Amino acid sequence: MSTHLDARDPLVVDTHELARQAGALRRLRDTIEAPADLGIELIGVPEGAPMQLDLTLESVVEGVLVTGTVEVPLAGECARCLTPLSDRGTYRVTELYNYPGRQAAEDELFLEDDLLDLDPALRAAIVLELPFSPLCRPDCRGLCPTCGANLNENPDHRHEAAIDPRWSKLAGLGGDMTPGGPDNED
Ligand SMILES: [Zn+2]
Ligand SMILES: [Zn+2]
Repeated sequence: MSTHLDARDPLVVDTHELARQAGALRRLRDTIEAPADLGIELIGVPEGAPMQLDLTLESVVEGVLVTGTVEVPLAGECARCLTPLSDRGTYRVTELYNYPGRQAAEDELFLEDDLLDLDPALRAAIVLELPFSPLCRPDCRGLCPTCGANLNENPDHRHEAAIDPRWSKLAGLGGDMTPGGPDNED
């Protein structure tokens, strides 16, 4: 398998100094820019936002074990009232990168030479934990189904009993019954 990881990519870590000696450790504390599409439909980490990594890389028999945390800003919108929301999240990272050529399940990660790509580990840690329906607050009242008003800002908001659509049509015509047209010309 040929390497296609780029060591200059901030998400790519060179594990060379671990020297494949089981037990060797390397601390990785760094702030890097978030990659694109790190999120789900309504919430995620904005592209380019600072992701604070506090990771330990440990050489184990199978490869390199990455553990620790990643702390990120989150941006999204409330699933009920669509108000923009922002938050911070800290997520646990635990990922084994197998040495190249090892027998491992298809969904496991591998080192490429001495390089490992943190991207899939961070995605697994963050994206799977994000809420499908983020809320601006737990008791968000959402939007009025009739007119779309934000019910958090207008808690007493209500409508008169729904008007029969046929009547509302007539009511609308009423305003247009003004004299006009050729018949009224002198
Ligand atoms: Zn809301
Ligand atoms: Zn309304």
